[in-house]
Amino acid sequence: MKTTQNNSIHDVIIAGAGPVGLFLACELALAKCSVLILEKAEDPHSPLKQVPFGIRGLNALSVEALYRRDLLQELELHKRLKNPHLNAKQGTRRQGGHFAGIVFHDDDIDTSQWRYRLPSSTETSLISEMQELETVLTRRAEALGVEIKRGLAITGFHQTGDGVTVQSGNRSFQSKWLVGCDGSRSVVRKAGGFEFAGTEPEFTGYSTLVDIADPEKLSPGRNVTPTGMYLQSQPGYVIIQDFDGGAFHHSKKPITLEHVQEVLRRISNTDVTITALHIATTWTDRARQTTSYRNGRVLLAGDAAHIHAPLGGQGLNLGLGDAMNLGWKLAATIQEKAPENLLDSYYTERYPLGAQVLDWSRAQVAIMKPGPTARALNAIIRDLIDTRDGATYFAGRVWGVNTHYNLDGNHPLIGRSVPNFELEDGTRIGELMHDGQGILLDFDKNASLKTLANEYGDQIKYISGSAKDQLGLSAVLIRPDGFVAWAVDSGPNLDDAAQAASCWFGDPIAIV
Ligand SMILES: Cc1cc2nc3c(=O)[nH]c(=O)nc-3n(C[C@H](O)[C@H](O)[C@H](O)COP(=O)(O)OP(=O)(O)OC[C@H]3O[C@@H](n4cnc5c(N)ncnc54)[C@H](O)[C@@H]3O)c2cc1C
Repeated sequence: MKTTQNNSIHDVIIAGAGPVGLFLACELALAKCSVLILEKAEDPHSPLKQVPFGIRGLNALSVEALYRRDLLQELELHKRLKNPHLNAKQGTRRQGGHFAGIVFHDDDIDTSQWRYRLPSSTETSLISEMQELETVLTRRAEALGVEIKRGLAITGFHQTGDGVTVQSGNRSFQSKWLVGCDGSRSVVRKAGGFEFAGTEPEFTGYSTLVDIADPEKLSPGRNVTPTGMYLQSQPGYVIIQDFDGGAFHHSKKPITLEHVQEVLRRISNTDVTITALHIATTWTDRARQTTSYRNGRVLLAGDAAHIHAPLGGQGLNLGLGDAMNLGWKLAATIQEKAPENLLDSYYTERYPLGAQVLDWSRAQVAIMKPGPTARALNAIIRDLIDTRDGATYFAGRVWGVNTHYNLDGNHPLIGRSVPNFELEDGTRIGELMHDGQGILLDFDKNASLKTLANEYGDQIKYISGSAKDQLGLSAVLIRPDGFVAWAVDSGPNLDDAAQAASCWFGDPIAIV
């Protein structure tokens, strides 16, 4: 077979134009890297990405990330679904989320425990739709100069010390780096020899759109039954969990009306009748994570690096977090501005968070399983989630507000997402992050901090002046991904600030 070679060498080729690949492309292009995305599917539209199948819950960190890049306002769906007339019955308590189907309520949550969440913070969670999110990200990526080639599946690659040759059938493309954002069945992961360690599934999950002759036989909402779980969130949209060890999903048998009806009848213990099956897809709670996120010039992000049950909706959030964390680090590495080990910190920061999410999903499965042990544990969680501290704990985990990286430094804010400080002129700090630069925020107008920031040119922006609520802080160094690299309450020590700057941004580029 004759190979057609494309002569231009991109900084980065990304496999997959899913939400993670697209967001990563935006981050890299914002930092002025040239990016090519190769996407297997010809058509970016799919009913599985649209309401109701494509509904995704974004957590506080994803909402913040999109806000910080001025993308949040472009997502329209949540504005409709947030409308109380559309999604809340009068007098009902607002549900904050769930753990294994056990709901926690907004009015139980003690937000005063979240010291660094200011009233000006963005929302803790948001409903979004895959299709809309991908459309918004595609538009932004293309506006930033990203090239997206659809209908080209990556089939393999070869890397040397200088770059990567990426194969798509008989065509080949060159880049300095390759990032696999090609989802749970990632070819990049398999061809790159990454170890994918974890646990096998307990159940097959079904998402179906059906016509039901006698829907009143099914109970509304989420129902954990002695044999599994079923949920009818809107007429005809039925999700089922059948604890078959993942056998049906792995059998690759066609999903027929008769099969779905049999499973639904068994799980719901009714004789409900399905008259039409419009769409059906299956998934499992298989939980695996690659033991490294990088092999030479090849990296992984999103579902390519970690998979788990979609219970409680964490996968997309984890993947968007990977992209936000990796983008600026890879860009700085390509542009030879990165301090030593910066790129390695992608793995050391993101792997533990991925592992936590896998365990969170395993813990949910463990208490949903049919049997007396799970039922007993389930009852205890029910009691705990109804307490103020319990609801606050579960909300903190599900919404990601307690997330932090284990970074060097003594201040408790270091490694956390920066609070959305509101400056005297009404500007919020998140609005100053659209360009993806680092920020040295100096509440006390300290001349030496200004000099330090200036030494880093456009890598670090210096912002001074007081904020409405400074949380007792004097100065904060913020990384391009919005996480705090250094913070001090009073009397900044210039040596500490300079050390933090060089740790994350490398050597100063100019003495001003
Ligand atoms: C039923 C269900 C409900 C969910 N709900 C939530 C939720 O509420 N919140 C949440 O955070 N997460 C949720 N998730 C998980 C979330 O959808 C995924 O984690 C997320 O889509 C991962 O994004 P990604 O870009 O990594 O991968 P994908 O979305 O899978 O995108 C991968 C892309 O790569 C392309 N591709 C594949 N192979 C190749 C190749 N060889 N070459 C080139 N391109 C290729 C694919 O066509 C695709 O476009 C849910 C998942 C399911 C199944």
